[in-house]
Amino acid sequence: MRSFQVCECGAPLKLVERPTPQPVGTQVLVKVLASGVCHSDIHIWNGYYELGGGKRLQLLDRGIKLPLTMGHENVGEVVAAGPDANDVDIGAIRLAHPWIGCGSCAMCRRGDENLCKTPRNLGVFSDGGYADYLVVPHPRYLFDIGELSPTQAAPLACSGITAYGALKKVGALIKEEPLVIIGAGGLGLMALSLHRAMGGKAVVVVDVDPVKRDAAKKAGAQTVIDGRAPDAAKQVIDATDGGAWAVIDFVGASDTANLGVACLAKGGKLIIVGLFGGDMTMSTPFFPLRAMTIQGSYVGSLPEMRELLELVRHTGAPQVPLRTRPLDDVNAALNDLNAGKVVGRVVLLPAG
Ligand SMILES: [Zn+2]
Ligand SMILES: [Zn+2]
Repeated sequence: MRSFQVCECGAPLKLVERPTPQPVGTQVLVKVLASGVCHSDIHIWNGYYELGGGKRLQLLDRGIKLPLTMGHENVGEVVAAGPDANDVDIGAIRLAHPWIGCGSCAMCRRGDENLCKTPRNLGVFSDGGYADYLVVPHPRYLFDIGELSPTQAAPLACSGITAYGALKKVGALIKEEPLVIIGAGGLGLMALSLHRAMGGKAVVVVDVDPVKRDAAKKAGAQTVIDGRAPDAAKQVIDATDGGAWAVIDFVGASDTANLGVACLAKGGKLIIVGLFGGDMTMSTPFFPLRAMTIQGSYVGSLPEMRELLELVRHTGAPQVPLRTRPLDDVNAALNDLNAGKVVGRVVLLPAG
């Protein structure tokens, strides 16, 4: 099988040919049909997150090992299973939930494998789908995609579940109060679409790029605001009738997080999802005086993946611009994403 591997941080992925793995134990072997290119791949590829103030979080110190086949948004055909993998339909088309933990700690037993201290995330801590085949450790991570095509379904594995996990943190007022989304890249547009599917009220979208603001407007944003405008915070406060109940920051830079805090109504919540990097300083009295919450959200849990696919079954595929490219274009696809040239999602097709 072919796989494209990170052999050295930041260097082009290398095409490696090796024997197709044979599944053992509970493993399932999947022939990859579609693999989405996610912005976090840029961080994994480069090997660090920016922490602000010139500091970096090195991913090689966090258990990521090279060489690594990236690709965590995968849909494929089940082609083989180990002797202990029960209830596997050979030939079925399945989405692979990539946010896999140890499976035995308290966190994993509660279903929050995405928060496990010893993660085995596909395409991050173990080989992912920028390849012809993918090994999934257990059939419980495989999900039926119903009527969706593999290309439509693949982005649900990260972009979809990440947007859904963040939207769920908004809580019951999602149907009553307008939501502010900062960042109209693939994730922001996914969140816009899922927010509507969840019966959400209006969305105010903030982005510095006019092309992305335009895409957000077309995708149903009620108001779009230039994040670089000197009065951006005031514009958001006006658009949300005096302040936002919830802001989801899909960028996660110093500027965007500070803008998010500045826009909050009393009792409001800023949910930080993006990993662009930066830092922030907060005066502690504002937490009580403004009854404010700042919460992080990292991908989503297995139960949330089940809920998301159920939602999509009823409301249809999220309306996110998709572009397919052959797997051989993986380096070009990553470079385009890194350069901010991608609107929506690029999905790689190993079969060409
Ligand atoms: Zn991702
Ligand atoms: Zn665990």
